[in-house]
Amino acid sequence: VVQLGMPTRTVLTTCAYCGVGCSFKAELRGDELVRMVPYKDGGANEGHSCVKGRFAFGYATHPDRVMKPMLREKITDPWREVSWEEAISYTASRMREIQTSYGVSSIGGITSSRCTNEEVYVVQKLVRAAFGNNNVDTCARVCHSPTGYGLKQTFGESAGTQDFRSVAAADVIVVIGANPTDGHPVFASRMKRRLREGAKLVVVDPRRIDLVRSPHVEATHHLQLQPGTNVAVVNAFAHVVVTEGLVDADFVASRCEGYDEWARFIAQPENSPEVVESITGVPASEIRAAARLYATGGNAAIYYGLGVTEHSQGSTMVMGMANLAMATGNVGRDGVGVNPLRGQNNVQGSCDMGSFPHELPGYRHVSDDAVRTVFEQVWGRSILPTPGLRIPNMFDSAVAGTFRGLFVQGEDIAQSDPNTAHVTAALKAMDLVVVQDLFLNETSKFAHVFLPGTSFLEKDGTFTNAERRINRVRPVMAPKTGKQEWQIVCELAAALGYDMEYTHPREIMDEIAALTPTFAGVSFAALDRLGSIQWPCDENAPAGTPTMHVDSFTRGKGRFVPTSFVPTSERSTRKYPLILTTGRILSQYNVGAQTRRTANIAWHPEDVLEIHPHDAEVRGIRDGDSVTLASRVGTTSLHAVISDRMPVGVVYTTFHHPVTGANVVTTENSDWATNCPEYKVTAVQVALVAQP
Ligand code: SF4
Repeated sequence: VVQLGMPTRTVLTTCAYCGVGCSFKAELRGDELVRMVPYKDGGANEGHSCVKGRFAFGYATHPDRVMKPMLREKITDPWREVSWEEAISYTASRMREIQTSYGVSSIGGITSSRCTNEEVYVVQKLVRAAFGNNNVDTCARVCHSPTGYGLKQTFGESAGTQDFRSVAAADVIVVIGANPTDGHPVFASRMKRRLREGAKLVVVDPRRIDLVRSPHVEATHHLQLQPGTNVAVVNAFAHVVVTEGLVDADFVASRCEGYDEWARFIAQPENSPEVVESITGVPASEIRAAARLYATGGNAAIYYGLGVTEHSQGSTMVMGMANLAMATGNVGRDGVGVNPLRGQNNVQGSCDMGSFPHELPGYRHVSDDAVRTVFEQVWGRSILPTPGLRIPNMFDSAVAGTFRGLFVQGEDIAQSDPNTAHVTAALKAMDLVVVQDLFLNETSKFAHVFLPGTSFLEKDGTFTNAERRINRVRPVMAPKTGKQEWQIVCELAAALGYDMEYTHPREIMDEIAALTPTFAGVSFAALDRLGSIQWPCDENAPAGTPTMHVDSFTRGKGRFVPTSFVPTSERSTRKYPLILTTGRILSQYNVGAQTRRTANIAWHPEDVLEIHPHDAEVRGIRDGDSVTLASRVGTTSLHAVISDRMPVGVVYTTFHHPVTGANVVTTENSDWATNCPEYKVTAVQVALVAQP
């Protein structure tokens, strides 16, 4: 007897929003999903959840979902629904025609951090084995690619050092360029619990985020620096550590290399807090006090977000934080470390799966003959030894006419990538744009083929969260489109003459585990048995490694890298006197494709511009006024919110709504090492449009 209103079955799965990776029990009545209940034994969330994971799942059944493949010859033509067979055979034949005319490297693909590891893995395999080039990149390019680079250079592994549980042992918590209460709410709760117990908090952020002052939590120091000056601040911290004798000499001597050269560099007067004050606007006394607290306050842990990575010196800053942690011995045990707060559910996983044009799965360079040989033997195809194009290079090459065809898995590049005008020019220049997604989005306006994707409720696979935790994503319902995304990619590969021969996503994970040493032993069966696995894992540590670099670093010795501060070329000018920085809000998520199609829209119906009262007053702007926001690359308009969260001269907005299109104004400046866009620093002008 089924009691009216009671669920009839439950499925244990993983939230598809942020990089916390909360586990949920999806409760169904028949085929209808009635509620998502946070799972008390979830390794990442321990029964907690936020408004996105708990309530914002209705997009999966929203009437806007595209259920049938569509194609059109020209982007000005109307869409035409077609069979899967026609869509796939059309895509394959057009891709081959392009390669015949313009060369093997004239096409490529972009993987999505929204998709499962298995779905990502098959796309990079499609590009490498079926397209025959390395032109594969991931949306992580525009968020945490500097994390991968910086932590690999210093520690030897492109991932965070700790599990979330570790924060409970921290005595000093340093939050740099992250807003956990909005971006990573469930982890923020753990952090606040520790702060309420007495841990000290240092916030380094231009904006006064909620953590700085919230009920029962107050930061000991809020270093409200000018956007674009992170590296100067972290160098000043290290300068204090070195010149005041606060270095953990035993740790440095036994665990690290390159210290002497680095210490000479960091002790130079240009890195002193007094000089850095003139660059950052942060009082030298505050920097000294915060640095002393970090070095002497017990276990000190750094947590950071896109306010670190999305800068022209994003990779430098990641290495700067690693230097600081090594110099003070804050690596390799509970309560310490350098911890990226990943934005999307599977950013870590999409990077792990070989989505970068220079790396095969497990962060191994394509130029490594031995590694390539291992993959070639299993894949039955040769792999090019030279890196392919990054996303910005794809756009530049498209405009130049040499890159002509693109497969985009679940990323709305026309809304999320910087300098929208350049992105759309690139898309318009291509002969074939294939979009695999849930909804017609900004990118699909320039697409020729639309392949309908599956929501997380239909997927069968794994996500990997910010603490390297591999979680199962179990299907709550059958794919509404009739096909799983990995199947679509495999069918496209087959139409191109390359058979991947999988019958179930568990076989894809088995292949990943067989080819990737850090995933040794991972399987769907092991995940069902253990609940989750934190890579690296092997037969000695089947459940994985919560804390990395315990006795030695992955690369052997931790490596100090001198990190000179180089100011961004993006400066305020008379024409563009303010600096814009961007971020997210709790109820919405990234480009908003999902959350805008849920009740969460009521909490944040539009992107607004936060502006300091002084900057508003001199422009005659009142709260709620319509304003234009202009940079050297574009102009948009939105409503103003007067707020003293921002310092004078800095304005702030989110990028959840295509109507506003915040990236219309962001520039193509990017990180020197990874091309991660400098979303956080754009010189702008703000002007009043009309009174409300
Ligand atoms: Fe989902 Fe992140 Fe919220 Fe957890 S904290 S429920 S993973 S959005």
